[in-house]
Amino acid sequence: MISPARSWREAPQRYRLEAAKCTGCGRVCYPPRVVCPSCRGRDFEHVVLPREGNVVTHTVVRVPPQGFVEQSPLTIALVQLKDGTRLMVQMADVADPETVHAGMPVRLEFRRINSDGEAGVIYYGHKAVPA
Ligand SMILES: [Zn+2]
Repeated sequence: MISPARSWREAPQRYRLEAAKCTGCGRVCYPPRVVCPSCRGRDFEHVVLPREGNVVTHTVVRVPPQGFVEQSPLTIALVQLKDGTRLMVQMADVADPETVHAGMPVRLEFRRINSDGEAGVIYYGHKAVPA
């Protein structure tokens, strides 16, 4: 479980869609990392990612993990943002998963991801919605 303090610390970064750009090789990491997966560099500068992009590929999860059952089926998309950064996000506002396709324009929005019923904790993160 994520402690309130940790959630608070992570919130601004998540909300603004901040990523870390490696000063060594230019790779953009989202979420930010401590060590660059490409060149093992440790120097990063903060960049704010664009919210607009396109679906590269997607998958539909018809037997979702615990905590996501109410949102079944889940559509998970690999989205390429306008600056070339790729990230995996859940699709939202899609009534029919069959309408999601490669090249589909999307926009990232800050949404409720799921809730832990027992603890009453609600997790937020970015989801892609049709643009
Ligand atoms: Zn690097």
